[in-house]
Parts: sequence; structure tokens; C-alpha cells
Amino acid sequence: MSHLRFKEVEVAFNRAPVQVTVPSEPPSRYYATMVFNRKKMQEYLPQKAYQALTRAIDEKAPLDRELADDVASGMKQWALDHGVTHYTHWFHPLTDGTAEKHDSFVEHDSNGGVIEEFSGKLLVQQEPDASSFPNGGIRNTFEARGYSAWDISSPAFIHDNTLCIPTIFIAYSGESLDYKTPLLRALNSIDRAGTAVARLFDPNVQHVISYLGWEQEYFLVDEALYAARPDLALTGRTLMGHESAKNQQLEDHYFGAIPMRVEEFMLDLEIECHRLGIPVKTRHNEVAPNQFELAPIYEETNLANDHNLLLMSLMAQVARRHHFRVLLHEKPFAGINGSGKHNNWSLGTDTGTKLFHPGKTPAENLQFITFLSCVMAAVHRYNSLLKASIASATNAHRLGGNEAPPAIISMFLGSQLSRVLSSLIDDESDDQLDFASHEGLNLKMSQIPELMVDNTDRNRTSPFAFTGNRFEFRAVGSSANCASAMIALNACVAQQLQWFRRDVDRRLSAGASRDEAIMAEVKRRLRQSRAVHFDGNGYSDQWQQEAARRGLDCETSVPLIFDAYLTDEVVGMFDETGVFSRVELEARNEVKWEMYVKKIQIEARVLGDLALNHILPVATRYQSVLLANACKLKQLFPLEQYETMAQHELHSIQAMSRHMRAISDLVSQMVEHRKVANRVTDLRSRAIAYHDTVSPLLETIRTHVDKLELMVDDELWPLPKYRELLFIR
Ligand code: ADP
Ligand code: MG
Repeated sequence: MSHLRFKEVEVAFNRAPVQVTVPSEPPSRYYATMVFNRKKMQEYLPQKAYQALTRAIDEKAPLDRELADDVASGMKQWALDHGVTHYTHWFHPLTDGTAEKHDSFVEHDSNGGVIEEFSGKLLVQQEPDASSFPNGGIRNTFEARGYSAWDISSPAFIHDNTLCIPTIFIAYSGESLDYKTPLLRALNSIDRAGTAVARLFDPNVQHVISYLGWEQEYFLVDEALYAARPDLALTGRTLMGHESAKNQQLEDHYFGAIPMRVEEFMLDLEIECHRLGIPVKTRHNEVAPNQFELAPIYEETNLANDHNLLLMSLMAQVARRHHFRVLLHEKPFAGINGSGKHNNWSLGTDTGTKLFHPGKTPAENLQFITFLSCVMAAVHRYNSLLKASIASATNAHRLGGNEAPPAIISMFLGSQLSRVLSSLIDDESDDQLDFASHEGLNLKMSQIPELMVDNTDRNRTSPFAFTGNRFEFRAVGSSANCASAMIALNACVAQQLQWFRRDVDRRLSAGASRDEAIMAEVKRRLRQSRAVHFDGNGYSDQWQQEAARRGLDCETSVPLIFDAYLTDEVVGMFDETGVFSRVELEARNEVKWEMYVKKIQIEARVLGDLALNHILPVATRYQSVLLANACKLKQLFPLEQYETMAQHELHSIQAMSRHMRAISDLVSQMVEHRKVANRVTDLRSRAIAYHDTVSPLLETIRTHVDKLELMVDDELWPLPKYRELLFIR
């Protein structure tokens, strides 16, 4: 085994970069060649069908059967022209990642041969036998059918010789079984509510659009080292491993040159992304060794999310070509930074107004501050929910750790905007505000544009930060489906916008002027939600105490955090916005608790196995070497001399015994706790048991193993160490 490890390390360190064949044309020439976008639609569809389809997409109208047949036939032709043989409905089940079931186009013709067939019916709707996807009890066996249906707002694409059709996935009874369905509902809801508010400022607005620009962080590890680490392979993170003497303390990785091998990987990935119409733009090293980031130009939220999911599968594939494994786990290595996925989020109108962009005129600023106050009200009122939307067994390692946002959702605004808001809040003239005579206020408002100049005002410790023209929801985990966060955020902001318009209308009918009514409602929201505003250091202990005093949610236990989905307030909000029914919310929580249990259970099994079958035997072997040496010393030397000479051996033998005993005791305890927890039938209680009794032992066992790693002969140690895993050459 030890021999194998050294061979692995040698292979990893001597590996040459895999050269990528770069297309001879610029990206603009091959961008989106694998996407059935409007250009392809125009080329492959009859004129009438093209017009009807684009109209349906723009107006979010359903496809009729005849049109679907035309579209399917054009799409099939386009796919066949690219050598495609199969098609699939591509959807986002409640597990991580995406799901697909491939069918070939082949059908019998009547002459004993086959023809390529793809009908509108197959395009629009399918019935995958999806009984193995988590559903939280929604689909009983007697109605175990699930339907997938084409989401025409996201174009079909070709990947791996397969025509992929983005679809929603719902139960026979209509409940959503995926992420896309509720995301589309939330986006609809914010469109409606946002439009009603935006029309207070511009009656021409027809739609409000939600935008998302994700920044994807990830680690790369050489495949040879990865293969020698069962914990990485089975759980996505290292369950043991002593810190490397050098890791990120010199902060030399962030601005360091990207290693050649990694650069080739990135280039390859970017070319693939561009072919698939994913507008990736930025790449750089991250803070931790072997950690990198990739970000696209932002897009409409639904498409951006499809692109992120597609990217995550592309990354895994392309990494293999370069003899890497990509780690999307939020915390693959202890002691160094974890990975997140910042969700840059904003709203805009179809008339081109960016709603989080402070304007140049007081009127524009009033609109800006209106939307801002509604976001603030939403983040305040639903701060537990927003935390629940990003919580998972894997992200738990990152949140609350001393490098990532704490497990408290607060909002950063920056000093200039904070000043403007404070002066608004403190302005006692209140509801009866006479706008015309308030030149001062207008003046203050017109100062907001300066914010754009001073964009250095950034606070990396905030989980939800205003960054000049958008909000960055930074607490999202690197492996997560962004939809979870985007559903919660868009839905709760939609509700607040709805309420805003309702309250303004009430004031208008009572005779207030437009500006008076808006200003009064803005101030009311800013006052009510100021507790969520925090510009200080989110990592500090004082903030934890202060946040609790302010009544913000400080819960850190993931199974309990999930409860936020089922409070009356949240159930009501999702009902009002038409995003989730109570049945759906309950079912989803069952899935969340179950996933939580499974993840911890797998980690516990893997750690137990590694500790008992890999670590203890090696430690015993090394201890025997020490014992043999001590015995020989004793035979050869007089007692006084022996005691000095064998000091190291004797000390190590004892210390190793202590750690070995602790490991074997703790592993037995962990097994016992699992047995007890597994007997609990209620999933929520079982998840709590896993969190409270099993999870802490993972950490304790690890510390003993890590101590042994420092004692045992390096040649014997069975696993590649951090210093080997973390530095790609
Ligand atoms: P950072 O400085 O945080 O690394 P970047 O300027 O690289 O941020 O942008 C990060 C992401 O934010 C990119 O995906 C970018 O397209 C996106 N982004 C920029 N402006 C907006 C916006 N108005 N709405 C949504 N996303 C945006
Ligand atoms: Mg950012």
C-alpha cells in the first residue's frame, strides 16, 4: 500500500499537461453551436412555426400539439445533422445534479428497417419511470408516475451525442418533484409583483426579469491521488488528514500563476462551455491551494441555473480528460478555505431599467430605494428561510467556520448607502412627508450614484451583500443547485413587492400623492427591517451575540434549520406567491432530512472503515517496530542507558496506544449511535439524532487519526497526505 502511495504521488507530480486543441476561429464563431437557439430555430423550422414558437417563448404561453410536431421535426433534423443518435428529457431532481434517461430516435418502419422518429408528443411530455427519485412520499406506488415536460424558456442543446431537452418534473397529481418547477413559479411571481411596482414609475413596463450570475468555486486533485483516498472518492471530502505545514498562510495562491495543467483544463472547459452557450468569462485562482473559480456573464435566472448545472457535469467530464478530479464539496479539506457559489442576483425591467442600480435623478433613486426596501424587508422577515435554502450536510462545514459567512443571514449595504438609509429612517417627518418641500431629501438621494464610484466598499464576511448594482448571496454552497436559494429569494421578495404595491395603492386611494405614498411605505420597511442590516465583521463573536439580540436566526443545526420551511409565515408566503403548496413543502423537507441522514451515515461508515482497516493496522505495525527496537535496546544496554536511549520509542508507544484505543472506542460508539438513530422512524428526529450524536464523533475520531499521522513512519501511512493532495505541479 505504501508503495502504491508513492507511486501515485510520483505519477501525479510528473504528469505532463494534456494539450487542448484550440479552435482556429474565435469563440464568437463557435459560441452556442450546440444550442437550438433562435438562430437554429429560424434555420430549421417553417416560418410559421418559428414565429409561433418564439411568440410562445416570449409570452410564456403553452405549445399546441401541431406546433410541437413541427418543432420536434426541426429539432430532430438539427440533431441528426450533428450526428446525434439519442434524445433525453433533462431535469433537476431533488438529489444533487441532473437526471436523464436516453432514448434513441430509432423506430420501426413498416419494411423491417428503422427510421429516425421524434414527435411533438415526445418533445413536449414524457413519463420517465422515476420512482427511484426522492419525492418525500408524494408519489405513492399506485400513482408512481412522474411527468417531465419541456421548459420552452430554456433551449435544447446537444451534449455527448444526445439531444437534451430541459424539462420540469412533476408528479401525476401535479406536485413538483424537481427544482425547476418551483423556480419557474417563483420567477413568474416576481415578474408579476415586480411589474406592478415598477409601473408606479413607468407604465410601459410589461415584465420584471430576475438575473443570476453565479461564481463557481472548486478544487482540483490529481486522479491518482484521488483514487488512493477512499474518503474523497466516496464522500467528496477528506475525513482525515493533518494540515500541511504550508497551506494558505502565505496567501500566495490567490494571485499566483495558474499551473499549466490547470490552465489547459480551464481552456478545454471554457471551449466546451462556449459551444454550449454558457457565457463563461472569468477564471482565477482562489485563496486555498488547488482552489479555483469560474464565472460567466450573468443571464436570466432560469437559464443561468440550467447553465450552472450543465457546467457542473461538464467540469467533472473535462477534468477526467486532464487526469484531474473536480471537487465541488463545500469543504473538502479541513483547515483551509471551503468552496461556495456566490449568487449575484438582480432585477431588471423589459424596458431596460436595472432596478438595483442607483440612478442619476431623484425619481430613479426613489425607484431604486423602493426595490431595495422590499428586498431588505424580505431578507429580514425570511432570514431563517434564506438560511434554510442554502443549508445542507455539506455546506454546514463551511458556514460558521471561520472563513465563510456565519450561519446568520444579514445584509451588507456599504457606508454610503447606509448613510442614506439612516437619514431616511431618522427623518421623522414620516408619512405626511411633503415631497416638494423636501429638497434636502432629494439631494441626499441624488448622492447615491457616488456609490458606483466607490465600489471598493466591500465586506467579504457578509452572507448577503449589496455590491453596487446587485446583491450577492454568498452563503450558497459550491455543490448546491442555485435554484434552492433563488426560489426562496425571488418568492419572498415577490411577496414583499406585492405587499408594497397593495400598501401604496391604499394610500393613493386615501388621497396621498404617488411620491408621498411610496416614500412612506419605503420608510416603514426600512425601519421595520433595520435589524437585518449589518456592515461589520460577520466572523466576529460579538456579531453572534448582537445578531441574537436583534432577533435574527442563529440556529446552527442543519436539521433544525430546515424547520424554517414549515412555519406558518413561510407556508403562507409560498402559498400567496403560488410557488409551493404545503404538501410540497412537507414532502421536500422529508427529502432534505433523509438526504442529511444519508450523507452523515455514509461519512460515518467510510470513516469507521478507514480507521479500523487502514489506520489502526498501520499504526499497530509501526508500533511493533518501535517495540522491537525498544526490546533490543533493553537487551543490549544497561538499564540507565536504555531508559535514555529508548525515550522516544517508549513515549511514542504509549501515545500511540492512547490514540488507537480512543479510535477503536469512538468508532464503536459511533456504530452504536447509528443503530439507535436508525431505529427512529420520524425522519426529522432521525436527522437530529445524526446531527447531535453521530456527526460530532466524526470530528473527534479524526483528531486522533491526525495525531497518529504525525507519529507513524511516513512510508507506512496508507493515504496521500494534505501536502501531496494540495499542490498541483
Ligand atoms: P467579483 O468581483 O465578486 O468576483 P464579478 O464582477 O467577477 O464579481 O462578477 C461576478 C458575477 O456577477 C458575474 O457572473 C457577473 O456577470 C455577475 N453580475 C454582474 N452584474 C450583475 C447584475 N446586475 N446582476 C446579476 N449578476 C451580475
Ligand atoms: Mg463576487
